Amino acid sequence: MNLIQQRTALRDYYSANFDIDGLEAIINFSNFSTREFGFATLGGKFFRNISFENPKALIDFLVDRTPFHAYVGAVYNEPPSRESPIHTLEWLGHELVFDIDLNEYDAVRQFVCDCQGADQVCLRCWQLINLAVRIIDETLRLDFGMKNIIWIFSGRRGVHGWVTDDIGFSLNQEQRMSVIDYLSVIHGEAEKARIQDRMKLKYDFRYRIEHTVFKYFLKNVRRKDLIDLGFSSSAASNIIKQLEHQEGKIDENLLRNFNLRVAKIDKYDEILRRWVPRIDHKVTIDLRRLLRLPNSIHGKTGKVARILDPSNIFSFNPDGEPSVFSR
Ligand SMILES: [Zn+2]
Repeated sequence: MNLIQQRTALRDYYSANFDIDGLEAIINFSNFSTREFGFATLGGKFFRNISFENPKALIDFLVDRTPFHAYVGAVYNEPPSRESPIHTLEWLGHELVFDIDLNEYDAVRQFVCDCQGADQVCLRCWQLINLAVRIIDETLRLDFGMKNIIWIFSGRRGVHGWVTDDIGFSLNQEQRMSVIDYLSVIHGEAEKARIQDRMKLKYDFRYRIEHTVFKYFLKNVRRKDLIDLGFSSSAASNIIKQLEHQEGKIDENLLRNFNLRVAKIDKYDEILRRWVPRIDHKVTIDLRRLLRLPNSIHGKTGKVARILDPSNIFSFNPDGEPSVFSR
């Protein structure tokens, strides 16, 4: 599609298919007019400090101007504008948000799949994202008592988690930092990133991490991954044979046996390092952060940043998402 055709596709989407009700499920419309929005044009020009009187004005803007990227930020005491930029206004709140992106996994992705380069994504490496969603979602609900958590495809290589509970909205930076600290099992992005001392993690969380990570590691493991880890080729074959025999069902017995084998070759941290959630901390602690507008189009891929079904997260395939640019 050439540029004019892409513009038309964006215009068609925003005028006929943009799900404003879905957006309302995420951002509270009662303070719509004082919320910040931002946009980027195809040429890469970026604008923020924009606000709209009501949702209809936002849609009109999207249809008229067809931005290639649309973002939404925090709520202030007055409508942000060029004359009243956000740093001159009083900050009133921002949903608690999480950004999980394959970028954070670049150092370890080679151990999981055969993708080459930043633009390739496959169902195997997407399991790293899905696993992070599963663990973070469960932890926010069970350990923090949060109830309304919505996960959104970023349109390209990741997902965003939005906690829309009132309590998340008003957390200050320090409080957001402590949520991140609680959820952080590794520090840094490198392949050899330091692993948090397991005994310092809260018991429930530690159990959840170890149990879920090892379960999904086994669900996805290939023979060569086991050999890379240091298993002998006959041990690797045995484990794969057993997994095939169980047809993808990872029961407690199998999990316990595998954990013992891993402990024997001292590769526990290696597996955790590859599979534990990697969260972009900066996004969560930035109170004025602009995040991709839910249900808007990602201008590079033409895919909708749509709401995901957390109960079915493991079957989501970003490659299978339709693009408005490929009709
Ligand atoms: Zn991959």
